[in-house]
Amino acid sequence: MAKNITPRSKDYSQWYQDIVKEASLAEHSPVRGSMVIKPTGYALWENMRDALDKMFKDTGHENAYFPLFIPKSFLSKEANHVEGFAKECAVVTHSRLVSTEDGVDVDPDSKLEEELIVRPTSETIIWDTYRGWIQSYRDLPILVNQWANVVRWEMRTRLFLRTMEFLWQEGHTAHATEGEAVAETKQMLEVYRTFAEEFMAMPVITGVKTESERFAGAVETYCIEALMQDGKALQAGTSHFLGQNFAKAFDCTFQDRDGKLKHVWATSWGVSTRLIGGLIMTHSDDDGLIIPPRIAPWQVVIVPIYRKDDEREAVVAYAEELKNELKLAGIRVKVDARDQYKPGWKFAQHEAEGVPVRLAVGPRDVENQKAECVRRDTREKQLLERSAVVTSVSALLEIMQQELLSAARERMQANTHEADSYDAFKTILDEKGGFIYAHWDGTAETEARIKEETKATIRCIPLSGDKTPGNCMVTGKPSAQKVLFARAY
Ligand code: AMP
Repeated sequence: MAKNITPRSKDYSQWYQDIVKEASLAEHSPVRGSMVIKPTGYALWENMRDALDKMFKDTGHENAYFPLFIPKSFLSKEANHVEGFAKECAVVTHSRLVSTEDGVDVDPDSKLEEELIVRPTSETIIWDTYRGWIQSYRDLPILVNQWANVVRWEMRTRLFLRTMEFLWQEGHTAHATEGEAVAETKQMLEVYRTFAEEFMAMPVITGVKTESERFAGAVETYCIEALMQDGKALQAGTSHFLGQNFAKAFDCTFQDRDGKLKHVWATSWGVSTRLIGGLIMTHSDDDGLIIPPRIAPWQVVIVPIYRKDDEREAVVAYAEELKNELKLAGIRVKVDARDQYKPGWKFAQHEAEGVPVRLAVGPRDVENQKAECVRRDTREKQLLERSAVVTSVSALLEIMQQELLSAARERMQANTHEADSYDAFKTILDEKGGFIYAHWDGTAETEARIKEETKATIRCIPLSGDKTPGNCMVTGKPSAQKVLFARAY
């Protein structure tokens, strides 16, 4: 009854696509690189969004909404920003269609006077707005986040991991001092790390991007980097210290306590639906998705099992009672009493969708006041006393959450290597993949050469860990500390 999922060992990339399909997360749309997020996938996103949103609010942020369309002229105001995003912008040029013999066409008479950009990110429109909001130090800080969709004209797309349109949040904060803005940047990086580990059970390395990987317009880009099961890295979130670059570009100043006019300091930070791709590739197996309980759309599914119609009523009623008890304990639980599917089919479906705990109840369980409990990740099965269902299941969900994180941590550790020479580096990359710590001389040339020759990139300069200086594995020149390399998504 297993689902149609290609094993990871056979074709990892096909496995990923099969999971997305069989777990009913998303599908391709007629527009290349755009996806339809299905209800199950969206429910997962909603849980992630809600948890993050709470963390943002707990750190003092508010939500707001800025427009989808940005005047083209705004993009050119910050030189690095436009350079970084110019090649991936969707541009609105006309406002009308006209009927033709073959269908419809763009009405040449409706050409816009100023073309509009569909936001690839919102710094420009937001800093144009903040100029009007900020006059004095009393107006600072501004701690705003927005949940939105953005469009980047990506060439090589993959469901969730890299799409043309994606859902995300973008925080945009304004501060009176550099120190405050830097502290905010680091605080939000820490929020992302905590979310990734405590909710997604996805361990990450935090660090700083090199100049060539830095966000266009930022002074410094901090990131969280995760390691996927196939040994490739995924940039899972970024937090940017923008300095005064956008304030200068949009002439956003404030009068400080000392009476002097100064430019505002800024940060921006974002995570996207890419996280769902990261979640899939952190935990799932050849039978489908595995979702940590804290963000699972359904934490428990109860499957009533009966052969004859006269058994049905009692078994379904028993399942409903269990559901109500679990629900009262705050657990997201449903009964799958659909008649048109056999239990085996349902089991496979719930496994594919990654429901953490399955309870199965039949006539004998009703009679003996029991329930069979199976945990998705380890398949461990136990027969629970009815009176212990709520406490056992609650405890099991918590244990699963912790064990998924420790399993992922162990996997990351086992796939993290150190290379002391360029040859060793290449051998590790080709034979094992994974994260590799190695010395680098700090130059963009060496970084580019390594990328060109091995397809590995510097994922980050890690914030913690070994800070011992050494010599670059390629040029032998001095290196301040080992940096983190990997081939990446
Ligand atoms: P950035 O604004 O480039 O720092 O990106 C912010 C967040 O969006 C990061 O967590 C990225 O991983 C994510 N992201 C960037 N491009 C895409 C894309 N094409 N599809 C999905 N997520 C993306």
